[in-house]
Amino acid sequence: MLKGRSAIVTGSTSGIGLGIAHELAAKGANIVINGFGDAKEIDNIRIGIEKKHGVKCVYSPADMSNPEQIRGMVKLCESSFGSADILVNNAGIQFTGRTEAFPEEKWDSIIAINLSSAFHSMKAVLPGMQKRGWGRIINIASVHGLVASKDKLPYVAAKHGIVGMTKVVALENAKENITCNAICPGWVLTPLVQKQIDDRAAKQGIAVELAAKELLFEKQPSQRFATPEQIGAAVIFLCSETGSAITGISLPIDGGWTAQ
Ligand code: NAD
Repeated sequence: MLKGRSAIVTGSTSGIGLGIAHELAAKGANIVINGFGDAKEIDNIRIGIEKKHGVKCVYSPADMSNPEQIRGMVKLCESSFGSADILVNNAGIQFTGRTEAFPEEKWDSIIAINLSSAFHSMKAVLPGMQKRGWGRIINIASVHGLVASKDKLPYVAAKHGIVGMTKVVALENAKENITCNAICPGWVLTPLVQKQIDDRAAKQGIAVELAAKELLFEKQPSQRFATPEQIGAAVIFLCSETGSAITGISLPIDGGWTAQ
């Protein structure tokens, strides 16, 4: 379905991004993976994607807090594969704490990586998409793009911003066969969430398994984590011909979190 297309997935050395990269590659897209980690492990991920799905995969080490490097990542995709047809803005970080005590440098880095990076990457891919008359942009926001939780001020601000930017880009490109949508996951068990579970277990002096159960119980009525594969499947749907009339939406995949 996506043979001949090429996709950039930011923050795809782990968690949700890695799941999305595999789903896109399984449909035939060439992939630019991006993110931090051990060089050997990243190369294994890259080669693994190529072998498993029979596509080409290149790695961009771009830091999503650096606009110049973000432009470099888009150029790498265009020079490697001829175009950047699909952009998935997924890289993100988390840090929790009450507003009055929130470290200012953490505000700066969350806003840079979780919000501004998507502006810079969309700005860089849009001219090529407009020239070719086809493009799919999927921004991985969060339920925290739609509702709030305490102790997450910069994250909630960034994700609400992502939902807003998604609508603007969708409107500006509605006639051009370029869609721009956001996906809003609830809890997905990745290293980003595992850290929150571990912190909770340590703080309350309880087992990690119990902390995970409590975390789900508080917010996610399904009482089950969503999976990176489920998020990837939604990305595929939004990239498909069937999904081509969908633009500007924010799709919760949250086990009922935002229905409450
Ligand atoms: P993760 O920690 O498993 O993966 C994050 C990825 O981003 C990694 O590949 C990491 O190397 C990369 N990254 C971090 N900082 C970067 C930077 N400066 N430049 C480039 N890459 C960078 O986290 P995840 O849970 O898979 O989260 C992925 C996205 O999904 C994030 O935007 C997160 O906010 C969002 N999200 C996650 C959940 C969840 O429950 N896990 C829920 C809602 C939204």
